[in-house]
Amino acid sequence: MAQKQDVKIGLLGAGTVGLQVARILHDQQQELAARAGANLVLSAVAVRDTSKVREGLDQSLLTTDIDAVINSADLVIELMGGLEPARSAMLKALEAGKTVVTGNKAVLAQYGPELYETAARTDANLYFEAAVAGAVPVVYGLRESLTGDRINKVLGIVNGTTNYILDQMTTHGWSYEQALHQAQELGYAEADPSADVGGRDAAAKCAILASLAFHTRVNLEDVPVKGITEVSAQDIKQATESGYAVKLLARAERVIVEGEEQIALGVEPTLVPQSHPLASITGPYNAIVLETEFAGRLMFYGAGAGGAPTASAVLSDVVAGANHLVSGGHAPRESVYAALPICEPGRVETRRQVRLEVADRIEMMAEIAKIYAVGGVSIASLTQSPTETVPTEATLVISTHRAQNSQHDGITAALAKSPIVHKIASEMSIE
Ligand code: NAP
Repeated sequence: MAQKQDVKIGLLGAGTVGLQVARILHDQQQELAARAGANLVLSAVAVRDTSKVREGLDQSLLTTDIDAVINSADLVIELMGGLEPARSAMLKALEAGKTVVTGNKAVLAQYGPELYETAARTDANLYFEAAVAGAVPVVYGLRESLTGDRINKVLGIVNGTTNYILDQMTTHGWSYEQALHQAQELGYAEADPSADVGGRDAAAKCAILASLAFHTRVNLEDVPVKGITEVSAQDIKQATESGYAVKLLARAERVIVEGEEQIALGVEPTLVPQSHPLASITGPYNAIVLETEFAGRLMFYGAGAGGAPTASAVLSDVVAGANHLVSGGHAPRESVYAALPICEPGRVETRRQVRLEVADRIEMMAEIAKIYAVGGVSIASLTQSPTETVPTEATLVISTHRAQNSQHDGITAALAKSPIVHKIASEMSIE
């Protein structure tokens, strides 16, 4: 049998994911070689601290010299995270015509076009399956499997930390703070959880998914973001009673605005009907539903994070990349031919549910109805219950039909000004 060619692999980062990648490259070398058609040889590994013991990794491969790792390799795996030096390292590798595999959603959402353009110019390949939803092969699904179809909507739970927190709040009736604390204890949330709970991590993934789905450049700044920090135990209780689950959803949808096709984007806590497949996604898992023209509705589900699951996604790219290096062909190039405009956030149409604490007076209902009528938003349902602690107050839960966000915001402003409304306790979009 002919001797297989070696593909030298330079690994940038040997933390949670990088170390697993190195271990799997070692432990599964024969199978991976058979699939890639090449021996995958780990040539050097860049870290910050070379003295740290990393079980399963040959310490002699460690260096702090990122350039040396890039120079030694045919294929560079970037798993350092953060914007710099990750962006510069990837650009340098691509400039040199090397294949780059990354799990770095932050760099892709901010500097994707620069990386793609460099790759196209130097005929290098860029892969990033691990950047969205960990082990779940949704990037491949959009970038390759579904290129014969037309995607109309992408709706996803793409951040496991926030899904875990919301799930624990639902199951145990906990406050946001209690659930966050437990997520941190179990390692599902970082010591500084702001990128997850503030929705920025999900927004970066939303931008990547939207770019792939709609063949349009979508940047992080295009995605309006609201995190889960203001979701209360009462909001979750109310949602459950109304037949909904609260999920932090990333949404990217093809919409028509004044006859023009546009992309509506957003990341926000959303009321998802219990019958919707995303309502049943519990724990730190990810799931993405794609609504397509011809294949109908598809759902991708699985572990969105963790060393081994994310390494699985990285290695699928490594096998594909090595295979292209030895057998020809290349990764899909950036596809932005559609160049759809991004829908202004105020013009995106949603349904909304608000919970109000109001003065329980005879004219209250007429006043509320008038605010909605003047604002041009139609009420779909309204329930009134006594507010337990204040006998002169009532709690109203109002769900609307679809209206533009700017109209909903107008209603919120008018409600806030009305003397009959004591408090706008919560406000969420309904899927
Ligand atoms: P991590 O545990 O923090 O590991 C980062 C690694 O990069 C460490 O080995 C660190 O070295 C090294 N590093 C950082 N800055 C460096 C520098 N300036 N020079 C050389 N080495 C440097 O990160 P991770 O969780 O594995 O995540 C890696 C990437 O995968 C990130 O882009 C992340 O967003 C993405 N990702 C992670 C997950 C997950 O579940 N963890 C899931 C999906 C995607 P030291 O070890 O010496 O500090």
